[in-house]
Amino acid sequence: MASEFDLIARYFDRPARGAVLGVGDDAALIRPAPGMELAISADMLVAGRHFFPDADPVQLGHKALAVNLSDLAAMGATPRWALLSLALPDADEAWLAGFAKGFFALAERHGVDLVGGDTTRGPLNLSVTILGEVPAGCALRRDGAQLGDDIWVSGELGAAALGLRHLLGEVALTEAEAAVCLARLHAPAPRLALGQSLVGLAHAAIDISDGLAGDLGHILERSRLGAEIELAALPACAAVAARLPDVAVLNCLLAGGDDYELCFTAPTGQREAVQAAGVGAGVAVSRIGRMVAEPGLRILVPGGGPLDLKVNGYDHFSA
Ligand code: ADP
Ligand code: MG
Repeated sequence: MASEFDLIARYFDRPARGAVLGVGDDAALIRPAPGMELAISADMLVAGRHFFPDADPVQLGHKALAVNLSDLAAMGATPRWALLSLALPDADEAWLAGFAKGFFALAERHGVDLVGGDTTRGPLNLSVTILGEVPAGCALRRDGAQLGDDIWVSGELGAAALGLRHLLGEVALTEAEAAVCLARLHAPAPRLALGQSLVGLAHAAIDISDGLAGDLGHILERSRLGAEIELAALPACAAVAARLPDVAVLNCLLAGGDDYELCFTAPTGQREAVQAAGVGAGVAVSRIGRMVAEPGLRILVPGGGPLDLKVNGYDHFSA
């Protein structure tokens, strides 16, 4: 049976062109460019909690890195280096080859070097630490939103959560809808180009990993403000839009996890610039509301007042 060192050498020791020293020593050595700050984040995927244990290893390799890249996108940072810590129940080489394929395909697309990690036996657990660069003092933080800012989101919302409900047998999607929703669930596209082009434009940003309401709620808390968003302005994916106003589908839109889109705020004077940033990054951006003084999140429905979050069972994520 292959040793831990054989496995690392075979699947994870690749040339790290952008590092001083990569895999193979007691620590990697990296040198950030002058004038840059390091943005560092870690995210763990646990079998049975974040994915089904028999999930496709290629997709897992992609997703383990993608969720980390999404955090750097939300900071406006450029990813450079990654560490990969794996707990594996056994040395399944077909699984490792698939995982490495998915991981490195995404890493290469974004110029990320795998510079180290840890490999141990244990219940399947995938942990990535990502390091990136952002011009000093320019990162997009959660605490920068200002009164009167527009609130924006990228892409479409709700597809990943609806895809998960489809897998759980709670909703029946058409074949075409399932293809779209499951691709979003299994292979999210981190919005790196958009995040980087929002530096100097947006006041605050977060990536939507736990659902719009909760994640926007983090911006509200950190920025000590409230928000009003228009239900009709939310960019629901087609499969979600076709099933509204079903309460469980509304839940996918407002509180569904795994979208990995960006939610950000920007001054009203920057509307054209934000639209141009979206065009440049190849992703739609939708203006969904505004930052207000009164604390909490209000979701306005067409021709009416705020959605009654308690009546609809949303109390758990009201900001
Ligand atoms: P040490 O015992 O000194 O911590 P390890 O035996 O854990 O070293 O790892 C040997 C080398 O392989 C180190 O450079 C480590 O960063 C790297 N490494 C271990 N596991 C992985 C992995 N899954 N992906 C990338 N690099 C890894
Ligand atoms: Mg080690």
